[in-house]
Amino acid sequence: MTAFISHLLAWYAVHKRALPWRRTHDPYAIWVSEMMLQQTQVATATPYFERWMARFPTVNTLAEAPLDEVLKHWQGLGYYARARNLHKAAKLICEQPGGAFPTTYEGVLALPGVGRYTAGAICSIALGLDTPIVDANVIRVLCRVFAIPGDPKSPKTLDVLWKKAEELLPSGQSGDFNQALMELGALHCLTPPRCTNCPVQSVCTAFQQGQTEQFPAFAAKKAFTSHNDVSLWIEREGKFLLIKRPDEGLWGGLYELPRVTATPDETIEQAAARALEQLVGATGSVGERLVSLRHGVTTRKITLYAIAVLDVRLPDPLPPGCLWATRTDLARYPLSSPQAKLLAAIQERKKQPALF
Ligand code: SF4
Repeated sequence: MTAFISHLLAWYAVHKRALPWRRTHDPYAIWVSEMMLQQTQVATATPYFERWMARFPTVNTLAEAPLDEVLKHWQGLGYYARARNLHKAAKLICEQPGGAFPTTYEGVLALPGVGRYTAGAICSIALGLDTPIVDANVIRVLCRVFAIPGDPKSPKTLDVLWKKAEELLPSGQSGDFNQALMELGALHCLTPPRCTNCPVQSVCTAFQQGQTEQFPAFAAKKAFTSHNDVSLWIEREGKFLLIKRPDEGLWGGLYELPRVTATPDETIEQAAARALEQLVGATGSVGERLVSLRHGVTTRKITLYAIAVLDVRLPDPLPPGCLWATRTDLARYPLSSPQAKLLAAIQERKKQPALF
């Protein structure tokens, strides 16, 4: 075990990537980076982090910013609850006497959206505490080096992994050790692993036994399901109708063309008519399918259609959350990636006047 720690730390000291959040020990910056890096690759998160820190350099600037602007800076990263939680937590921090970032593990863990992994990362990297982390990278490394059996998503195996991660921590060097574990998982211990030149090859049980393919032993993934979603294109005097989604849940607080998921016994056009009535409280005739695109949300494969609605009679005033927007207005309204792509595709179609 000692050899594993020393090989890993020595390798990390020489080979770690120069990432922007590694230039600081500011807990706020580390927190932002860790939230961005959940579910997101380093290469994708890096420009977002730099733009975010330029606009919201402190917890106070984040707390004072409007949520729409915060979500706009997150647009394209997905899993928007992360941005909403950062904003909510920043407000809570600033409401405390002194308004400083918490300095204990319990204080960090109490922040909205911060779980055991993120608290461990912030505390070890920014606060110098000996707190373990277990994420997808760490799971691959620990399962292979120590030949840990069982599905890492099962509570029992996860518990073994957290205990192992804690047992390994070199006191006073936990920040570097945790980052080294993640770095090894990101650069060498991938799926499939790149064992050539791996710094811990000599102490890796799975490698030594020729069993790297057998760890980690994830259970079979859930099957994909297919769905049709329908978004309404309602246009008036050069503007189109957007609706704000509820603050909680998938794409919470983002704007979109009014959208529903078609039920199994509904056609696309029937779903559009339902969306018109239920979401917008309007009447009108469902027109042609303008564009469609495919995207995925976890195990859901979705085909998203945009349907034009003609002769619309809308309630006055518009239902809560509905507004008219132009293309230029989209610079301030946060959109999900599928909706941003859908709007761009509709704009392309609009260049063919015969279709409108
Ligand atoms: Fe992973 Fe291979 Fe290194 Fe073992 S030797 S830690 S399996 S990359």
